[in-house]
Amino acid sequence: MSPVLSQLAYLLAAVCFIVALKGLSQPRTARRGNLIGAAGAVIAVLTVMLTPGLNHRGLILIAIAVGLLAGVIGAYRVQMTQMPQLVALFNGVGGGAAALVALIELSKIDPAEPGTVVPLVATAFTIVVGSVSLAGSMVTFMKLQELMTTRPVTFVGYPVAYVGVLVIAVAVAATVVVIPSMALGAVLAVLGLALGVLLVLPVGGADVPIVISLLNAFTGLSVAAGGYVLENTLLVVAGTLVGASGTLLTKLMAAAMGRSLLSTLFGALRGGSTLGGTAISTRPVKSASPEDVAILLGYADRVIIVPGYGLAVAQAQHTLRQLVDVLLERGTKVDYAIHPVAGRMPGHMNVLLAEAQVPYGQLKEMTEIDPEFKQTDVVLVVGANDVVNPAAETIPGAPIYGMPILHANHARQVVFMKRSMRPGFAGIENELLYEPGTTLLFGDAKDTMAKLLAAVKAL
Ligand code: NDP
Repeated sequence: MSPVLSQLAYLLAAVCFIVALKGLSQPRTARRGNLIGAAGAVIAVLTVMLTPGLNHRGLILIAIAVGLLAGVIGAYRVQMTQMPQLVALFNGVGGGAAALVALIELSKIDPAEPGTVVPLVATAFTIVVGSVSLAGSMVTFMKLQELMTTRPVTFVGYPVAYVGVLVIAVAVAATVVVIPSMALGAVLAVLGLALGVLLVLPVGGADVPIVISLLNAFTGLSVAAGGYVLENTLLVVAGTLVGASGTLLTKLMAAAMGRSLLSTLFGALRGGSTLGGTAISTRPVKSASPEDVAILLGYADRVIIVPGYGLAVAQAQHTLRQLVDVLLERGTKVDYAIHPVAGRMPGHMNVLLAEAQVPYGQLKEMTEIDPEFKQTDVVLVVGANDVVNPAAETIPGAPIYGMPILHANHARQVVFMKRSMRPGFAGIENELLYEPGTTLLFGDAKDTMAKLLAAVKAL
């Protein structure tokens, strides 16, 4: 392929990435956006493979085949609720790859040649940031997969260790720019790995997905800097897009959880908890059968559904949609209230309900629906907890304090569908469970939802 043609192909791939991002911003167009992005990646890889004089084509093809196999098997086998872990893993590998490429490039740059300072700075940057991303992502993966404690981990002297490693990393990076060598580059990579581990250790389980998004932005930036070193425009464009979108997503997620990024990362050092306990309450609550709840729903004119993480775990979204359809046919006004951090990843509920063919018009954003709880007869909370927990407003120091919530407590009746009295992800009690207007429908949401649907149909 001629250089002009390959530049045109890169341009086409870059356009695909930008159009893909646009598509991903709306649930309606997300699937198409994803496919366009994948098409852009295929164009980019084909262009590289067709570059004249490319070495080790066979090895590259084997690597692609191995990567494809691992990616396809991983994507098919992973549960929707494990998606953040998968993203962390893929993201970390991307950062590590960028760091490795930069490490190899280091040996090819001759500092005696004019104009090599900026490429050397970019190379050192890629090695450190890519390594931070790799190690940090692996720790986030282990936390989310519960291969290690999900609680914040700190130790005496943590700030000194963190600042110490950072200062040494900056000094070694500066040395690499003056005397580039693979050995120094490897030291830099190890320091980057240590920084990545130290960055993520103090982050509590509930905040880990925010850090995944931040590390994603880091990977993007390291890829962009790597693209500069390799003089590959497409890598610069793709890396910048990932860096910018990761940064925006990090900001949005931190805002949705009512926390600044700094307190997300280092809150545990100030003694602030980012994850509560896991004690199970034994206080009395009012529980009911599916038939009782069906009668409540049968008399209601206005119903709001609050879906949460448990809906995804139970995979009860299809039965829930059927229940809502039956209620709508009976003339009840029903909407779904979507909290921005319900579930375990941004847009989790939108994706889950879209899978069950729930019309987008029935999904109402938190700010839009929240004032309507006051005029609502029954709120059906399906596998959600933290997103309706009034502690976010009433208990300073609670892990979710400051997070905007859905005010289900303003409605006449609230029905919680959950299996036990276990708390939600933040690990704290929900006083709403003990209110006189609250009823609990215990059981796995898939099972109880089927019984509830049958009881409503029988009314
Ligand atoms: P929660 O984790 O607060 O609550 C989930 C509820 O589902 C629990 O009460 C659990 O109770 C119940 N549950 C679990 N499995 C089932 C099942 N099979 N059937 C019925 N119920 C079930 O979820 P929310 O969606 O309300 O809140 C999300 C939390 O995750 C927030 O704290 C948020 O900050 C955090 N988070 C969200 C992110 C995002 O991007 N969406 C990112 C990072 C964190 P029981 O065990 O008794 O059944």
